[in-house]
Amino acid sequence: MQYHPDTWTHAEVTTKMLCVGIFVGLVLESWSLPVQNSSLVHQTRLRSKRDYPGKLVFHEDMNAMDRILGVNQRMCVSRDFPLREGDILSSGSHGAHVTCLADPCRWPRSVDGFVYVPYIISPLYEDMDRITIETGMLDISSATCVKFVPRTHEANFLNIESRTGCWSYLGMIGGSQALSLQSPGCMWSGVAAHELMHALGFEHEQSRSDRDYHISILWENILEDQRDNFRKYETSNLNTAYDYSSVMHYGRYAFSEDGEPTIIPKPDPYIPMGQRDGPSITDIHKINIMYNCGGRV
Ligand SMILES: [Zn+2]
Repeated sequence: MQYHPDTWTHAEVTTKMLCVGIFVGLVLESWSLPVQNSSLVHQTRLRSKRDYPGKLVFHEDMNAMDRILGVNQRMCVSRDFPLREGDILSSGSHGAHVTCLADPCRWPRSVDGFVYVPYIISPLYEDMDRITIETGMLDISSATCVKFVPRTHEANFLNIESRTGCWSYLGMIGGSQALSLQSPGCMWSGVAAHELMHALGFEHEQSRSDRDYHISILWENILEDQRDNFRKYETSNLNTAYDYSSVMHYGRYAFSEDGEPTIIPKPDPYIPMGQRDGPSITDIHKINIMYNCGGRV
């Protein structure tokens, strides 16, 4: 089920405008910051770390999922959309998948052994946004047999638009399949790769069936109404090791109630979790296994 602005009530419109206003303010605030490498920023960071040890997520430490949750929570998306785990659209739509263990959820293989995923990108994006999204695609397709191709006539395709928030369905659902990368907000290539991996059928790394061997969930630190976002699922782990550096991994403070960690790696609690650069080596390996690439790139 899609959400249409035509159906918004006056109260919903007012709420949305308020949310947008807050978001724009935050964006303008971030634009006014000095460049990332300036000594002023460095000194401020050191001061902040001394003042609030272990409690702050700095911009340069944010992984893709931190960014996604930040955008989706600011825009009040979760109140309007049936998003699971912060960014997986799981509405009552005809084809929404809960897990992606079998072929109907996966994009079909072509006779030449490659997997072509047709897409259209909204013409309303700026050129830089389009480049960012295409970089996310290229980071996947350059190392796997999955190729994102502009749609010509295909019935099943990704419809990438700047809607409210960063989100995707899990796997292929058939027909025109919405994938939202809001601009600004979601315009990191790592965020694009994250949502594209959902569309390919990959879940969040910390929802793997074997996650309890590798991380501890600190349930007491999670916002009470968000604990469902830490469920484990029956997942095909594709004989790969648990990957702390997956672009699909939550950050340490995801859905935190009071700024305390909600996920701790084990046995080493200081292992970084997630990143924002793009698919990890293991992410790429998993795509190659799931889609039987067999060395085709
Ligand atoms: Zn996600």
